[in-house]
Amino acid sequence: MDPQRLITSLLAHTHEGIVITDAGAMIVEVNRAFSELTGYSRTEAIGRNPRFLQAGHHSPEFYAHLWGALLEQGYWRGELLNRHKDGRMIADRVTISAVPDDNGVTAYYVGLFSDITHSSESRRQLQQMAYHDALTGLPNRLLLLDRLQSAIARADRENIMLAVCYLDLDGFKPVNDLLGHAAGDQLLIMVAERLRHCTRESDTVARLGGDEFVVLLSSLNQAEECEPTIHRLLSVLAAPYRVHEQSFDVTASIGVTLYPLDGCDADTLVRHADQAMYLAKQAGRNRYVLFDADQDRQLRARRQQLSRIEAGLTAHEFRLYFQPKVDLYRGVVIGAEALVRWQHPEQGLLPPSEFLPLIEGHLLMVKLDHWVFTEALEQMDRWQAQGLSLAISINVSAATLQQANFPDWLAEQLAEHPHIPPQSIELEILETTALDDLQRALQAIEQCIQLGVGFALDDFGTGYSSLTYFRRLPVRTLKIDQSFVRDMLIDTEDMTIVEVVVNLAQTFQRAVIAEGMETALHGAALLRLGCHCAQGYGIARPMPPEALPDWVKTFTRHPLWSAGAAIEGLPLLNVEAEHRTWVRQVDDFLHGACPQAPFVSDEQTCRFGRWYIQQGLLRYGHLAAFQTLEPLHHQFHELARELMEPQARMDVDAALARLPELYTTCDLLIEQLYRLQRELLTP
Ligand code: C2E
Ligand code: MG
Ligand code: MG
Repeated sequence: MDPQRLITSLLAHTHEGIVITDAGAMIVEVNRAFSELTGYSRTEAIGRNPRFLQAGHHSPEFYAHLWGALLEQGYWRGELLNRHKDGRMIADRVTISAVPDDNGVTAYYVGLFSDITHSSESRRQLQQMAYHDALTGLPNRLLLLDRLQSAIARADRENIMLAVCYLDLDGFKPVNDLLGHAAGDQLLIMVAERLRHCTRESDTVARLGGDEFVVLLSSLNQAEECEPTIHRLLSVLAAPYRVHEQSFDVTASIGVTLYPLDGCDADTLVRHADQAMYLAKQAGRNRYVLFDADQDRQLRARRQQLSRIEAGLTAHEFRLYFQPKVDLYRGVVIGAEALVRWQHPEQGLLPPSEFLPLIEGHLLMVKLDHWVFTEALEQMDRWQAQGLSLAISINVSAATLQQANFPDWLAEQLAEHPHIPPQSIELEILETTALDDLQRALQAIEQCIQLGVGFALDDFGTGYSSLTYFRRLPVRTLKIDQSFVRDMLIDTEDMTIVEVVVNLAQTFQRAVIAEGMETALHGAALLRLGCHCAQGYGIARPMPPEALPDWVKTFTRHPLWSAGAAIEGLPLLNVEAEHRTWVRQVDDFLHGACPQAPFVSDEQTCRFGRWYIQQGLLRYGHLAAFQTLEPLHHQFHELARELMEPQARMDVDAALARLPELYTTCDLLIEQLYRLQRELLTP
């Protein structure tokens, strides 16, 4: 056989793997056994440095020693841990020889590999590697989980507790960045040492990778027992580290979870401890946070509910119901409020209280509000096609109102429904919403008003609005909260609150509507207090949109309401008090009881004067009792003015003689006002 063929046949039939490299350690030939051993074909191997087989287990010093022997003695023999192409570890017994050329200079290296993976010593080594962290020699995640599982079983059996402490170093990255990975590794080894020292033999310290460690305290009798150990861990780890002649301060953030309080499997326990560690970081590092299983359950439940609501939106499970709003005095329907419902496939029709609190302040709330809006506008279009034009109120949450682009979004929606007059849309905002961030709310509200829509303050009286705030809010309507309306017939304080809100609305020239009007009798009382508009079960419950047109057609005023009303928009008691006060002040002045002339506003700017010109004439101009008011009112102010002129002061007796005239005019004016009220109350 010629030598070349002999060599080729030798290579092919040798059971040991053979690798031949050139002097630069580049593979020039491998045999079939090599491919079988490593999983790499000849073409995959040729041209590469055999380094690609390394499993990352041996240190750089190990390889330096290997090369030293090769260069000095011409060969090296030993064991190498390599990685098969499929990822598993293989142990090889290897002999590498340098092959010199004719001049004695190394031209090739030949390596002979035989597989010893299954020998007992290498098995032990491989196992050590599989279950330990190469850098620190600590158990790795696999071994930790294994021990954790046993610890859980033992805790169950012996009725004890265990703590999983997840550690992440604070300030480790600068060490790595400043001094390089080798220094970082050195620090990690020091950390591992410290951890080992301050735990017991029976505890497990594991490294999960990077700068993350887990300490498993496996036999606690009660929860508090782990505290001293954790404090010790924190303080031991916080002592300065000397690396490369420099001192570094590194601390640890620790998350702790306790089994069986947190009754989960090993994997989940580690994850929970990790979550708590994250909270420790957020809370300022160098501390520990105990995982709160209850809170986590609630959080998870909430997340689930949120995604169920979101899915419901996508699946068109939400509905809009509408509740009519009426003018009790005139007996007409003035609009309806859109109220959202969830037609849940299993739980049936759910009211907002079942789902809105869950999404309060969440982006999903904004999504829902948007849906309500577009749905309401589409419904208005549908009704219009059936010949029903109705003003609609829509509830808007704080989150939505505070979206920077809300006014623009609203403008787009309105543009898509050109047949709906923006004036027929009223946005209901909660008193608290409007006042939380007044400046921002004001801006958004004003921009929306520019578009033509109006605003109402919902649930009025339950918030904490000061009058100053209230005056600055450009809302056109106050909705008296249903809690006051509901009990006004049995609770005089509630009755007073309703009355005060009605007066407040009148004073600030806002419309007022009562919500929660549960019976017709409530309606009669509201009318007497000067509140003409109402919404509530006493009129109609919220209904699906199909039902509304018929309801509107058949709505009639309840006989109790036609019993009459107070004078709309006129705070009668205030008018009386105001004028009587002026009379008394003029009296005091003329009798010398007060040195300065009192201020009496003129007839156009006093409360009655303003009402008379604006609402009074429009509404009651045709009534005889109304027509007698103006001359009396004029006479009152004229007389008051005359009595305070300098002339009157010079002739006090003459002025005093006319004082009874002022009293009489005032009495007549008030009497006439009450007559008007009576006229209105008797149909
Ligand atoms: P709200 O805006 O004050 O609406 C009035 C609530 O009172 C409605 O409850 C209505 O059904 C109920 N109601 C009306 N008349 C009576 C009555 O005579 N007696 C009683 N006991 N209750 C009456 P609902 O529909 O359960 O809504 C509750 C709240 O949920 C609403 O209070 C509003 O704040 C919010 N909401 C409802 N729909 C929406 C919506 O589409 N978007 C937003 N953001 N919030 C909404
Ligand atoms: Mg409302
Ligand atoms: Mg309300």
